[in-house]
Amino acid sequence: LLLAYDPARRLARVQISLERAVVNAQMIYDILDMEPVQRQKPDAQPLTISNATVELRDVVFSYKDGTILKGVSFTAEGGKTTALVGPSGAGKSTIINLIPRFYDPNGGAILIDGQNIADVTTMSVRQNLAYVSQQPYLFEGTIRDNIRYGRPEATDAEIEDAAKLAFAHDFILAQPQGYETPVGENGMTLSGGQRQRLSIARALVRNAPILLLDEATSALDTESEAVVQKALDTAMTGRTVIVIAHRLSTVVKADKIVVMNEGLVVEEGVHDTLARQEDGLYARLNNLQATGVRGL
Ligand code: ATP
Repeated sequence: LLLAYDPARRLARVQISLERAVVNAQMIYDILDMEPVQRQKPDAQPLTISNATVELRDVVFSYKDGTILKGVSFTAEGGKTTALVGPSGAGKSTIINLIPRFYDPNGGAILIDGQNIADVTTMSVRQNLAYVSQQPYLFEGTIRDNIRYGRPEATDAEIEDAAKLAFAHDFILAQPQGYETPVGENGMTLSGGQRQRLSIARALVRNAPILLLDEATSALDTESEAVVQKALDTAMTGRTVIVIAHRLSTVVKADKIVVMNEGLVVEEGVHDTLARQEDGLYARLNNLQATGVRGL
């Protein structure tokens, strides 16, 4: 991890993340409904949600060659926040890819409220998920359209309510055409924090019980950071949250921390307990962060 400070390695990482950003944009990743649907069983029934508990049971997965997840098990309790932490490449994003069935595990199972997501309709799984990514994607269209992607049948009032909860309403009204302002490649340029808040509004209008969150690593200025954080806190309230956590504050607040390394869960617990296990990976990552090196 200390190697991440080496400038050459940092550059390599930037390049990798740029490549990945392109892939993500092509996948139009934050719009779950637009992803191709994995084959579902002919007799598949819709998922029935009770408390929205997500369980990974001995999940094994490889994209092509090389096993990325080597038997991952943990439970994200309904209505609680579970933070995934661990070094780059540990498999955190891969887990997030498997829950909406962008890919299917090669072994083991993912269950939502006890139902294997491979046995129910894919659409019903995705309807119960919302996703907020690091690099929110904005489509050609108005601000209103971009929020509405979260739930096409949302009314204008619901869109504005979501924007208010995401602390986006005021900056939207300050735009030349308010909610009708065009954004996307040829539209208005929005700051990183504004994009994040639109993406959170999109997730809120979806009103799904499970929120998948990839916490941004890129620095926003302190003020936008604080507002984005407030918007996220609103989005997380009352939902089952699985967050790829980069901020110590998120991890400290999490109901459960799942520490991953090389495709395995190596530790699980809450911050205070894990931070005290001095020979543990979490304590080491936490100490790095305390000394100013981005550990988590
Ligand atoms: P980071 O914090 O850097 O995002 P991570 O813990 O989220 O890391 P993953 O993104 O899940 O880790 O990656 C685990 C491994 O899977 C890495 O070796 C990565 O190169 C590989 N990988 C990720 N996505 C794909 C893909 N779409 N196709 C092939 N390999 C992939």
